[in-house]
Amino acid sequence: MQKLENYIGGKLLAPLSGNYIDNYDPSRGKVYSLIPRSAKEDVQLAYEAAETAFKTWSTTPASERGRIMQTIADLIQERLDELAEAESLDNGKPLKLASHVDIPRASQNFSFFATGIQHFSSESHNSENAINFTLRKPIGVVGCISPWNLPLYLFTWKIAPALAAGNCVVAKPSEVTPMTAYLLSKLCIEAGLPPGVLNIVHGLGHECGNEIVSHPKIKAISFTGGTSTGAHIAKIAAPMFKKLSLELGGKNPTLVFADCDFEDTVSQVVRASFANQGQICLCGSRILIEESIYDKFKEAFLEKVRKTKVGAPNDPTVHMGALVSKDHMEKVISYIELAKEEGGVILHGGNRVNVEGEFAEGYYLEPTVIEGLDQNCRTNTEEIFGPVVTLQKFKSEEKALQLANATEYGLATSVWTTNIKRSQRLAQQLDFGIVWINCWLLRDLRTPFGGMKNSGVGREGGWEALKFFTEPTNVCIKL
Ligand code: NAD
Repeated sequence: MQKLENYIGGKLLAPLSGNYIDNYDPSRGKVYSLIPRSAKEDVQLAYEAAETAFKTWSTTPASERGRIMQTIADLIQERLDELAEAESLDNGKPLKLASHVDIPRASQNFSFFATGIQHFSSESHNSENAINFTLRKPIGVVGCISPWNLPLYLFTWKIAPALAAGNCVVAKPSEVTPMTAYLLSKLCIEAGLPPGVLNIVHGLGHECGNEIVSHPKIKAISFTGGTSTGAHIAKIAAPMFKKLSLELGGKNPTLVFADCDFEDTVSQVVRASFANQGQICLCGSRILIEESIYDKFKEAFLEKVRKTKVGAPNDPTVHMGALVSKDHMEKVISYIELAKEEGGVILHGGNRVNVEGEFAEGYYLEPTVIEGLDQNCRTNTEEIFGPVVTLQKFKSEEKALQLANATEYGLATSVWTTNIKRSQRLAQQLDFGIVWINCWLLRDLRTPFGGMKNSGVGREGGWEALKFFTEPTNVCIKL
């Protein structure tokens, strides 16, 4: 069975303990490779390699750092098919999605920051008696920890700005989906990334991840994952005054008004509900519909959901593949049971899907639509992170706003209306880091990305990310 390796100091290495964890193919429910179960010693080795590399990488001209990063971007693009197959196998997502979204975006993350760093400038402040300018220096060795839902996409979204800004990185992908991060280490070697600039250690969150967060000399942590993990990380990092970027969970509302562009809205809301099996932090899981079109919208929505095909990720005709793991599937099913106990009516789905042949043991679930629950129940307040949405109706814009904001989370929302004044009013009042108007998951990599409330602290993307990964020093010169 294939054994993945850590990438430390430019070399592919076995974990020092010799221990491994099983890696599952969720589409077949079978172990297909082994992941290093890295511990404190591996993290320390990675830290030392990064610390050594920092001396030269931090003073390497931005243009040269950009050139190497662009080579990595090109190699990802060249190996798109291989990487997309690996991502789909590891995660259970449709191959089509991995080839059209995940892997192209991983390449773009590298090329975006490879060029971005060459346009990055710092501030200067003039006054009558002094001129101040800001030096933006790389921080040093930083830690990047990412989740399983968009594995290479989110892993590179952190690593690329960190490297572009001149930092060296100790990174850990999710132990649930480690394969493309492992393949990336090989591409970094091929691209000539100097040893130690990027180190990838594989392992469990509470072991290897915890060691990265607790390491006294790793000065910043960029984390994407669950809210409770984020809170745990913040507790460890705060007394050490580490810089922290936390991109956490969500319970995102989708606001559908009677004046929406109906056909387009129905199609896009289905996508926003079930893309990647509903396992995107930005998916809209609470659909709020204006009462006057509630029945019409519900019927049109259900008609499209009924046509959503669930099946083997390598089947080009499927819309949804397998959920990422047995544990996660069971968690999602337990929420469907909870919804029933809370009085919810299942309008569609709610059951496992049996896919024939070699995929019979895979973790497939129907897209599930529930109505009849109010905003205060657990189904409507806790993050499920699967193919489950609820429908609620509202009578007025004020009520829609109140329902939308009635959550501890504040990541993303989408508003469907042709009334531009309404859309602007709502954008001002919705407590979310991202407000999409008549679109969903339309991304411009320059924009601030992240959430408020329990959805996190800080923003990624564009200059925000480069500012996070640099330490400002103000220099004041008396005139
Ligand atoms: P998770 O919090 O379980 O794990 C995320 C990463 O953290 C993994 O690499 C894991 O190994 C590591 N980890 C776990 N415990 C740790 C610890 N004690 N110390 C250090 N690292 C630790 O999350 P997940 O289940 O992989 O991902 C799903 C969650 O991620 C959902 O809540 C989803 O909303 C969120 N998410 C947020 C965004 C965003 O941009 N806001 C994007 C994608 C996913």
